[in-house]
Amino acid sequence: IDDLYIKNEKLAVVSQLAASVVHEIRNPLTSLKGFIQLLESGIGNKEEYFRIMNEEIEKMEAMTSELLFISKPPVNEKAWESVQSMLNDVTMLLNPEARKKKASIVWKQSQDEIKVYCNRSQIKQVFLNLIKNAIEAIDHDHGIIEIKLEVLSKHVVISFIDNGPGVPENIIDRLGEPFLTTKENGTGLGLMVTKQLMSQHGGEMKVVPNEKEGTTFKLRIPIVPHEKNTKQFE
Ligand code: ADP
Ligand code: MG
Repeated sequence: IDDLYIKNEKLAVVSQLAASVVHEIRNPLTSLKGFIQLLESGIGNKEEYFRIMNEEIEKMEAMTSELLFISKPPVNEKAWESVQSMLNDVTMLLNPEARKKKASIVWKQSQDEIKVYCNRSQIKQVFLNLIKNAIEAIDHDHGIIEIKLEVLSKHVVISFIDNGPGVPENIIDRLGEPFLTTKENGTGLGLMVTKQLMSQHGGEMKVVPNEKEGTTFKLRIPIVPHEKNTKQFE
């Protein structure tokens, strides 16, 4: 009964998501169709049409690649992975983007290596989503994204602390809803995927506004996942 219940609940989430994905993809498709008609008619500025069409295609591309991530079966892909090594990979990848915004990613690497039993590419995706959001949020030239690691008895807590403008108040309680975005070219899927991947690992994500400025996103990841968490996705 329990199994069936879980499956039904998952199905409901998936079909809801599918409905919104269809909706979100239909808009760029309609617009592409319109531009093709315009091109056929020979009216207007071709280069401009191609530029917009390209943007619409990129939007669909970004959405589908993010969604692919949650539909990938995570089974049998878990191993003991070093948190520091995963963070290293992601910060190296994002450093150029941070530099462009005159922001820096800081992280005291003095700690002993911390290993958790997880899917490496999924946890890296989570780190990437949070650090990328922090970089994108920063709107001044002294941006700092600080990463802190804490080891509790059964969990690792990883904090991503930025000094950006903070999450807009009207959406802070809705973070993780699909397609919730304040960015012109955002997909609004990053935090939803992050939450999903965290729950697949028996972990969680928490958002805390900083006292002075900016936001802290906290991840709590179990070092050894509870049996249920590994079995659930077979
Ligand atoms: P996207 O990045 O495509 O907009 P996300 O799910 O990653 O989608 O984020 C949703 C929204 O949450 C963002 O559009 C932004 O408004 C807000 N947000 C996320 N992280 C931060 C942050 N570090 N600082 C301020 N706002 C943030
Ligand atoms: Mg994002």
